[in-house]
Parts: sequence; structure tokens; C-alpha cells
Amino acid sequence: MDKFNFHSHSTFCDGKSTLEEMVVSAIEKGLKYYGFSSHACVPFENHFALKKDEIKDYLTQTHYLKEKYKDKIKLFTSMEFDYITDIMEDNRKQAEEFGLDYFISSVHEVKEHNDSKDMWFIDGHDSKIYDDGLRDIFDNDIKRGVTRFYLQEQEMIEKNRPDVIGHFDKINMHNKNRYFNINDAWYEELVRSTIDVMKKYDTICEINTRGVYKHRSDDFFPNKKWIKILLEKNVPITISTDCHKADEVDLLFNQAIDIVKEIGVKEVMYFDNQWKKMQIV
Ligand SMILES: [Zn+2]
Ligand SMILES: [Zn+2]
Repeated sequence: MDKFNFHSHSTFCDGKSTLEEMVVSAIEKGLKYYGFSSHACVPFENHFALKKDEIKDYLTQTHYLKEKYKDKIKLFTSMEFDYITDIMEDNRKQAEEFGLDYFISSVHEVKEHNDSKDMWFIDGHDSKIYDDGLRDIFDNDIKRGVTRFYLQEQEMIEKNRPDVIGHFDKINMHNKNRYFNINDAWYEELVRSTIDVMKKYDTICEINTRGVYKHRSDDFFPNKKWIKILLEKNVPITISTDCHKADEVDLLFNQAIDIVKEIGVKEVMYFDNQWKKMQIV
């Protein structure tokens, strides 16, 4: 089958390879479709996202590469938007303003509906930041913090209707069975209600392989248990590697296809000027 990846980063954000190095690697590894999805600007100091004054250059370079490599690979311009309650809610408006081909929305920072500007950063490589945030912002009340995470995702989908929801159960990455078990009834209920919202708006759920190849997670985001529910509810899925380096463009793509096939998934979504279904059986 044709390989693809619609979630990727580069030196324009927190990636280690340039846009062109990513493209050359994608071609070498036989990808037929590839989407650039730099972290969109966020309204606070940071080291991971595009800077406001770089947006124009990012768009120009992605369009230049699209043209330059058009005989070898189909390239698309996108961004991965952070959705943060009260702080960054207008993902779709920005995506339209930048003329993106499609866009991804993800929750990396969890915020309560209150006047506090504090955010619980649930991503990255350092579990201590997760632990500290849980303690300082949510008084170590894991149920309260995790509930906010999933409600923020639901709100994100309802307000923005992103094409793709990024790594939707990433809240579990630093948990490592310390605060909750994914089989806990309250946790499963939150996941199921979030999947229901995806279904309602026909949001594509990515199966993100990054946690596994970075050895930060035993399973993909989302894990197999939730992929089964996605299948039951007929929520469309795509496979992405969320690559930050040229050698990560297709990491575990084939394994992810095998796993979803085993679960019973028969088609995955890919982008070719519009989202289309690709049979995998
Ligand atoms: Zn992300
Ligand atoms: Zn990403």
C-alpha cells in the first residue's frame, strides 16, 4: 500500500531536520503523501512553536518544496495547533487565514476554566513536569486534571472541527500506571465520551507512533483498547509518526498498519487535496 504521514515537524518548530531534509527522507523511504504540520504559534514564550514572524517563510518554503518535488511525492501544508481553553481557541480561523490544506488540533497544555493562567503541560520527555503540574494546578487530583484534559479536547473538536485530532490519549503517557489505570471506569467513560464527539463531527483520529519509537509509551496514541472502540463506532483513522527528525518519517508505520488490521480496521484516511479512504485489506 502507499505510505503517508500527515503529522510532522521540522526546524521551523521543535524538529531537528529542515523541511527539505524531511522531504528527501520521505521520498527515500517511499512515502507517496506527506504533510508538513509545524506547531502553530502560541501566545506565550516557548521553544517549540513557529514564531509569528516565521509564518510567511514557512508557508513560502512548503509551497516551494511542493512544486520542486511534485514528480516524486505529494506534499501538503498544515499546522498542528495547540488548543488551550480561554487562551488559544481559534484554530480553524487561523488555519483558514493561512490557507492550510488541512489542520491538526491537539491538547498539550491543560487549563481549568478560571482566571489562573497556569497550564498543566502533559507532553515532552520529562515526567517531573507532569507530576509538578498535577500537584500545583490540580492539587494532585488526577481525576480532576484528566477530566479537564478530555473536556478540553471535546471543546476543541466542537469549536474548531479540526480535520485530525492529535494523539488523543497522550494524558496517559507520563501516567505509567502511577495515578490511574486506563481500565478504571471513570477513565474509560471520559475516553468513550471523547470518541463520541469525534464521531459526531467526523473527526479523523490519528494513530500516532511517536511514543513507542521514543520509548515513552508501550502503546501508540491511542492504545489498542481505544482503537477497538474507534472501529466499533466507525470513527475514521489515519496513521502518523509525528516525526521531528528525517529518519522518523515512517517509523513504525508498517507495524501500525498491521496492528490496526489485526483489530479489524479495513480502511485508513489519507489526504490528497481532500481526505480519502485507503483500503488496507
Ligand atoms: Zn502534539
Ligand atoms: Zn506533533
